[in-house]
Amino acid sequence: MTERFHTKSPATPAAFKDVRMRGFQDRAEVADVFALLDGRVSRLAEEPVSLHDAAGRVLARDIVADVAVPPYDRAAMDGYALRGDETFGAGPYTPLEFRVVGEAYPGRPFPNCVEPGQAVRIMTGAPLPTGATAVLQAEAAEESGGCLRVSEPAPPGRHIGKRGEDIEPGAVVLRAGRVLRPQDVGVLASLGSNPVPVIRRPRVAILVTGNELLPAGSRPEGYRIVDSNSVMLEALVRRDGGLPETPPIIPDVHEQVRDMLLQADADVVLISGGSSVGQEDHAPRVLAEAGELCVHGVALRPASPTGVGFLRDIPVFLLPGNPVSCLCAYDLFASRAVRIRAGRPVGLPYRTCRRTLARKIASAIGRVDYVRVRINNEQVEPLATSGASLLSSTTRADGFVLAPAESEGYAAGESVDVYLYD
Ligand code: AMP
Ligand code: MG
Repeated sequence: MTERFHTKSPATPAAFKDVRMRGFQDRAEVADVFALLDGRVSRLAEEPVSLHDAAGRVLARDIVADVAVPPYDRAAMDGYALRGDETFGAGPYTPLEFRVVGEAYPGRPFPNCVEPGQAVRIMTGAPLPTGATAVLQAEAAEESGGCLRVSEPAPPGRHIGKRGEDIEPGAVVLRAGRVLRPQDVGVLASLGSNPVPVIRRPRVAILVTGNELLPAGSRPEGYRIVDSNSVMLEALVRRDGGLPETPPIIPDVHEQVRDMLLQADADVVLISGGSSVGQEDHAPRVLAEAGELCVHGVALRPASPTGVGFLRDIPVFLLPGNPVSCLCAYDLFASRAVRIRAGRPVGLPYRTCRRTLARKIASAIGRVDYVRVRINNEQVEPLATSGASLLSSTTRADGFVLAPAESEGYAAGESVDVYLYD
């Protein structure tokens, strides 16, 4: 870990080491950047949302049931409510007779008590009338002229949904931090929980810099290329539960990059491009002057020219413009911050699978390598094109492997975890 990680006070412009056209002297380790983020990035406050908008949101507090679901004993079948112990001995050749005295529907209960020798026609979901202890299914009886001939016993409790059998009062139904599933909001509705306390969604400003860039949606023209990072980052931010906000492309002019950073009204700021050591790479100095540049240069390939810092406690990420590096730096660092702010788990939000390597992956000690791979015949094949500028390599890949800092990579035949892109 380098000294810079321990610096809590904003780096003064004087302390800022200008690395333009010189290159990085020392690079931070990926694990140290994680530790920095985990220590300094905080979860956002909660806000109430309507049940209708709660699915996919992160629950802010444990939900404890204060009612029973269902709130009353009810019929689980269409049939007849009666006193179950009176049906003992009933059979096809020894039917027992009951008098049908009324009906019970969901929302329209039978108003009286079911007395001995009586039965009430009852529909699924209707409250069980007092006196009745069982529901006999319609098929086990024959009704004519108000008389019910019962040919099968229905012992007490038969075909009854008990009060609280779904949810008991006092039960912890859902835990804080849960990303609400569709069925979860259904359960919350059944409890009468509305609005729902959820974590506020982080607003993420995506500041795209580059004189050569045309806005996404344009056709490439002359020596100008189309910005692909904004739309990719917007989708990644949404995946992580954030709300992306992308102002127009910013030219590589120090004052303009600075003004846009200072104006950004967001919970996380991403700056794409201009993060490295080129003449027009203004973002590191801008952040160091306006706030705090904690990390500049990470032992990670691609995405080594990544910067991480803070502006008034808002995490700011300097993402390399090369689209693969941008994706990699977002996923490893910015995504972590967005997810911490959103109350989501910090781990990479990809499914993983374990497979054997077809060819070796080389990596230097101390450096993490983000290696795009394909899975062929159950074997993991590193893609030959490893250029940081070739975004289509990530489209051809099935996922990526992270070669850890502690090792020199993986040998052919070793088992590795693949993070699957889909
Ligand atoms: P930079 O990080 O600004 O030095 O850019 C590195 C490379 O990525 C250059 O070839 C840029 O043209 C390219 N690049 C920068 N920003 C973007 C972007 N938003 N979309 C696509 N390519 C970009
Ligand atoms: Mg640039």
